[in-house]
Amino acid sequence: MGRIPDEDIQRVRDATDLVSVVSETVVLNNKGRLLWGLCPLHGEKTPSFKVDPATQLWHCFGCSEGGDVFGFVMRTQNLEFPDAVRMLAERAGIEIHEEGGGLPPGRKERLIAACEAAADHYHTRLTTGRDAGAAEARAYLKGRGFGIETAKRFRLGYAPTTRDELTRALTRAGFTRDELVEANLSLPDGPRLKDRFFGRIMFPISDLNGRVIAFGGRVIGSGEPKYLNSQETPIFHKSSALYGLDRARNEIVVSGSAVVVEGYTDVIALAEAGIGFAVATLGTALTERHVRLLGRFASRVVYLFDGDAAGIRAAKRAAEFIDWHVTPEAGSARVELAVAVIPEGKDPADYVAEKGPEAVRALVKEAQPLLRFVIDQRLAEHDLSTPEGKARALDAAVSALASVKGSILAQEYANYVADRLLTDFAVVQRALAGVRPERGRGGAETADKGSSARGAGSGADGAKGGVTPAGGTDPAAFAVTGDPRQHAAERELLRLAAVSAHARGKARDLLEEGLVLGEENIRLLRMVLDAGAATGGALFEAVARTDREAAEMLSAWLMDTPNVEEVEYAVREIAGRLKDFALAREILAKKAQMRGLDPAKDEAAFDDLFKEIAELQRKQQELRRHPHEADGSGGGHTA
Ligand SMILES: [Zn+2]
Repeated sequence: MGRIPDEDIQRVRDATDLVSVVSETVVLNNKGRLLWGLCPLHGEKTPSFKVDPATQLWHCFGCSEGGDVFGFVMRTQNLEFPDAVRMLAERAGIEIHEEGGGLPPGRKERLIAACEAAADHYHTRLTTGRDAGAAEARAYLKGRGFGIETAKRFRLGYAPTTRDELTRALTRAGFTRDELVEANLSLPDGPRLKDRFFGRIMFPISDLNGRVIAFGGRVIGSGEPKYLNSQETPIFHKSSALYGLDRARNEIVVSGSAVVVEGYTDVIALAEAGIGFAVATLGTALTERHVRLLGRFASRVVYLFDGDAAGIRAAKRAAEFIDWHVTPEAGSARVELAVAVIPEGKDPADYVAEKGPEAVRALVKEAQPLLRFVIDQRLAEHDLSTPEGKARALDAAVSALASVKGSILAQEYANYVADRLLTDFAVVQRALAGVRPERGRGGAETADKGSSARGAGSGADGAKGGVTPAGGTDPAAFAVTGDPRQHAAERELLRLAAVSAHARGKARDLLEEGLVLGEENIRLLRMVLDAGAATGGALFEAVARTDREAAEMLSAWLMDTPNVEEVEYAVREIAGRLKDFALAREILAKKAQMRGLDPAKDEAAFDDLFKEIAELQRKQQELRRHPHEADGSGGGHTA
């Protein structure tokens, strides 16, 4: 399998009717231009799921999911995009010609075959080996409560202590030196090869289709490193693979939740106790890609941290997962992230063994929203009885909100922080305005379990994070950037540009004048503007070609057939609002500058600023009196 060419995707799309695909699983009723039915993605009794035959788009305003026919198949059948295309191609009787990704044709299949053969070899060694090493491996697993049946269900294995047994077996089976090295099963040892893993219990790591693509190996008894994973290979990427997801996906879909734990054996212990929706990361922290992957199957992801010191340190760093995906504005891409720490210093395997599966289910159910968890942790680290303690607590709590600044969620939690600190909402608002996100996107890699809290990177450590000052600029200058009204206006502009090509000229002007500030809004607006005059289904396709998630986010709007005059009126109104906000920002910045001056010494500069502020305020008043003449001062044009 490889990359499916765009032409083939287009042919499949052209040959497929969304209405007939949807009708296979949903009863649709005509209501005007659109068809309505009960949403197959969330339980409901009154229809909020609509299909537009004209644009070939669908949307549910109950769960905010939406998109094209590929997206529909992806969501309802839990397929990845290429598999959805393949499925619909088959349905339409279209043959697609796949280009072999980065590897020569068949190469990927060979690497998977090598991993599969290795899994079989290790498994046979574990279950039937008569040597002392195999017996020791079985005894170790038994000690963890895993008998031979468990070993079979999870295809556990044993890599013997001889250094080249697997290499020899796979070479006999016809795999080449390059294949074994590329799959990271063998390592070059001079002219010869040696096994990558020896003297370890082997946990095969599978792709979503259950095919082995990598391994995790645990040392038997003591020894370092305790856990050794396959390195990155053409078929294995740590930051997007999760141990156990292939088995867990069905139960994750059914329960609506995914649980992320720290170790392979935790996943197995939970599954054996009847909790089948747990997965583990592979020696890395949870990344944004993991969250997105899980978000395809669940709307809620619960990170279950070990109760020992390392687990608690890791939990404190959970703030790193906070990004736009947790906000309501993320729409269908939204994932609710929650956190629970296992009590009494235990790990999930111990806990389920002692307390039973219901106790674990209760922990998962009562897990706290990530933001709330992080804020509570930070507040708890300070003495809230003194003003200094409160100030530090405020800075630390608010910095957790930096990466979702401007969202409704940030506002909600700003309220929460104000309540907890018995302070005014405006105080929290001001502190929030001055912080910057604590990290770049993507999530930091960490070492294996056991040392997972180290290597966190400087300054980003949640425990000490505190406020990240906005590089010497007066925080007041940022006050309106984080303003939800600015964000709402930008979203409305984006919506208008998406529904009507008539809004795009003006939207482009506003963008170029620097009046749109939200990074995500700028990105989405650019994509819409790059699509020329395309609207509806054509716009969806144009955007989906570079960013399917963005297209799905827009899809809710693309079924509207707007009235040109209304669009033009609305765009002018938004332009007025954005200009007003920009003036307000300028005024704040100048006031901040003025506060830095000594009127006695810098009289001239002080007077100049004073005049400039007065002039800006005059413009603002003018703008508010005649909102639709906003163009007059901005030098733009009116349609
Ligand atoms: Zn729905």
